[in-house]
Amino acid sequence: MRPILARISLGALAHNLRVARDHAGAARVFAVVKANAYGHGLSRARRALASADGFAVLTLEEAANLRLMGVQQPILLLEGLFGADEIATCAELDLRPVLHHAAQLDWLQRLPPARPIHVFLKFDSGMHRLGFPLAEHADIVARARNLPRVASVTLMTHFAQADEAAGVAWQLQPFLREMADYDLPWSSANSAALLRYPDTQGAWVRPGLMLYGASPFAEVSAEHLGLRPAMTLQSEIISVQTLQAGEGVGYGQLYRAKRAMRVGVVACGYADGYPQNAPTGTPIRVSGRLTRTLGRVSMDMLCVDLSEHPDTGVGSPVVLWGEGIPVDTVAAAARTSSYELLCALAARVTVQETD
Ligand SMILES: *Cc1c(COP(=O)(O)O)cnc(C)c1O
Repeated sequence: MRPILARISLGALAHNLRVARDHAGAARVFAVVKANAYGHGLSRARRALASADGFAVLTLEEAANLRLMGVQQPILLLEGLFGADEIATCAELDLRPVLHHAAQLDWLQRLPPARPIHVFLKFDSGMHRLGFPLAEHADIVARARNLPRVASVTLMTHFAQADEAAGVAWQLQPFLREMADYDLPWSSANSAALLRYPDTQGAWVRPGLMLYGASPFAEVSAEHLGLRPAMTLQSEIISVQTLQAGEGVGYGQLYRAKRAMRVGVVACGYADGYPQNAPTGTPIRVSGRLTRTLGRVSMDMLCVDLSEHPDTGVGSPVVLWGEGIPVDTVAAAARTSSYELLCALAARVTVQETD
């Protein structure tokens, strides 16, 4: 069998949820499990994160799956309703849609659900992606509160730069100033805001990335934040080549040996979810020791420098990211994010659950 494997640690997921809770104060925690729990598996994440106060997903299908799995907690639909036809299921499954556009209010007006639903009203405080303009809050809140079957309204916004130096104050302050008119619960924090800005707590926080053991900050490691990697992508060396000075390796011969050297071929490529644009020098672990990738990543293989590791060979274990090599480090080397790497884990990779 091809030796590539993604090990997912349920203990790490549970641990990271405890870290999130430690930062959440009195706020309740929605564990964000969209995109197949950032590549970790929805059902697995549901079990490991069972003590979350709620779960946040993107689609009705994901929410329905969570209910089938026995989830009793509140479920937030992060982009709300995609059409009026979703209202009935939303009510039936007791889901909480995020309403961010007037069309969604129109649908609810026209087709009141059979049962009252709890809604989140999303305001755009500067990200300019989803949400009602902050300036229209009086009309929008009044409309939402007057909808025939709305059980409760929670106010919500989302930050564009919680992970950067610009921070959240430029969005949070106007949001809270305008929302002070209402005595309503609110929600604003993603992982970065939760970890860095306690004043973003509100009634509900919405951590995603941190639950999976990655850091939202370029300059702070996940380990420093007390997080444990939930996914370890591992494989093995399946071939060893000896290059002479001047010989190249892989497509495009992008790396050329400066002197005679040993090169290991790893059973992992971009069709497994490893980033193709990871350049020569991307850190990787072989037999527990750090080395570097060489040349262009192929669909099913990539090459590593074994010059300093003469005791390695066919069958030597390789860690591409996870334990001992943060996914954040690999993402930075490949000029992408740990979000993208985790979500892109390919379906063909066997997953093994560990404690
Ligand atoms: C995905 C998402 C989150 C979680 O963000 P992280 O950066 O992964 O913590 C929170 N809120 C909303 C609205 C989202 O779409």
